[in-house]
Amino acid sequence: MQTDYDAVIIGAGPSGSTAAILLAQAGWSVALIEKQCFPRRKVCGECIAASNLPLLDALGVGDAFAAMAGPELRRVALFCGAQSVSATLPAGEDAKHPWGRALGREHLDVLLLQRAEAVGASVLQPWAAQSLSGQPGNFRCSVTTADSDQAVRLRAPVAIAAYGSWQPFPADRARRRAERRASDLLAFKANFSNVRLEEGLLPVLSFRGGYGGMVVADHGTATLACCIREDRLNACRQGSPGEKAGAVVEAYLRRECDGVQDALSGASRVGPWLAAGPIRPGVRLTRSGTHVFLIGNAAGEAHPIVGEGISMALQSAWLLCEQLVRSRDVRLSGIGAHKWQREVQERYAAQWRAHFRLRMQVAGLFAQVAMRPAVTARVLPLLRRAPGLLTHSARWSGKIRCVPNPGAIALLPALPVSAPASRPSHRVAETRPGHDL
Ligand SMILES: Cc1cc2nc3c(=O)[nH]c(=O)nc-3n(C[C@H](O)[C@H](O)[C@H](O)COP(=O)(O)OP(=O)(O)OC[C@H]3O[C@@H](n4cnc5c(N)ncnc54)[C@H](O)[C@@H]3O)c2cc1C
Repeated sequence: MQTDYDAVIIGAGPSGSTAAILLAQAGWSVALIEKQCFPRRKVCGECIAASNLPLLDALGVGDAFAAMAGPELRRVALFCGAQSVSATLPAGEDAKHPWGRALGREHLDVLLLQRAEAVGASVLQPWAAQSLSGQPGNFRCSVTTADSDQAVRLRAPVAIAAYGSWQPFPADRARRRAERRASDLLAFKANFSNVRLEEGLLPVLSFRGGYGGMVVADHGTATLACCIREDRLNACRQGSPGEKAGAVVEAYLRRECDGVQDALSGASRVGPWLAAGPIRPGVRLTRSGTHVFLIGNAAGEAHPIVGEGISMALQSAWLLCEQLVRSRDVRLSGIGAHKWQREVQERYAAQWRAHFRLRMQVAGLFAQVAMRPAVTARVLPLLRRAPGLLTHSARWSGKIRCVPNPGAIALLPALPVSAPASRPSHRVAETRPGHDL
């Protein structure tokens, strides 16, 4: 089995697979490590903003995405108690892709992962990274298979953390547990068939102690996803002893938002409720440094009320890989490697902040308002008089801005791909439902 690579990438969500595609296409030997079997459902609202569609084209999965994704999302709504208001979504900057669409993560993540393998990345799945050590020029990643004790140490001059933000390494778990607070947000998601929701509408939900969203995705299946404070959930559960958390959340959303109750009347749930978290909104990327490179949620996470996490995953991977491909000299070692990594990190971090800082702040503000429906209710009359404010809110949250500029996409060289020396096989296993509550 091959153990030496140019880059080791941990996590095959949208950020990790995007980085693997870009680096493998540029001629790097890449190990992409993913601990879960795909296809797998995942807690996510599954909306992919219009800004990402040119990137999906450039990554080579645009046509497959277009063939599967749900209807074009042209309107946004705000549901709060018995009230609602709606407005048009802003059209994307790319004339070919003015509207976002939704696609289940059991499809999107497989598309990207399979593409990464097709262009030459070595996919290790289901393998879990247990630790990452070393320094620029010489990182070591210890990986184990999920279903046996087999352990392997991979080595690479470049290491990229794309492992999201909800599943800490074994060494970090105790610290994370100690950091838990009653105000932590837990995330939930379920799919439904026969939902009554206007085609192309993207409702945002405001309710006591949380926020959420609904959308019709692929195959006419709707996704309902939300975040709820742990103390609010515990209070709800006390009123329904013995009920699973997902069922309690669903009942709460139906009570809190008439729009949810209307949409779900006559609907049937498809598969179990999934849960994740606590989620960790905030920036983790440092301005400089010589640790591993962070992309996607590992670098920073916006409150998912704006549904921009996949955008930030795809686009941060792109920003980083652009820097890596342009400036890479993998033979560097010692001080040279440290200096190189620090310079790449500084450029990447500066771009990351320039592109994502505003949407992180906007998302934080929206989340605080949405979790207080009494405040939302005061804003609603204004939004009804001026629905353009909702449209602008979507714009401020980053919905239409493509990073990088679609015109600049050709900058990343697509080198002829040679078969890697040894490529561990990627086995797509049966669907695993995730954490069934
Ligand atoms: C309720 C909710 C709704 C959301 N709705 C939307 C939305 O509508 N639109 C949107 O754009 N975003 C949305 N998001 C955000 C979005 O889901 C995330 O931002 C996105 O998944 C981040 O992608 P990523 O690649 O960084 O990480 P992830 O998608 O989390 O992928 C990380 C991968 O790394 C793997 N991994 C973790 N640890 C290891 C390890 N040690 N070894 C090997 N593999 C490992 C995991 O199994 C996983 O597959 C939502 C989030 C929540 C909570």
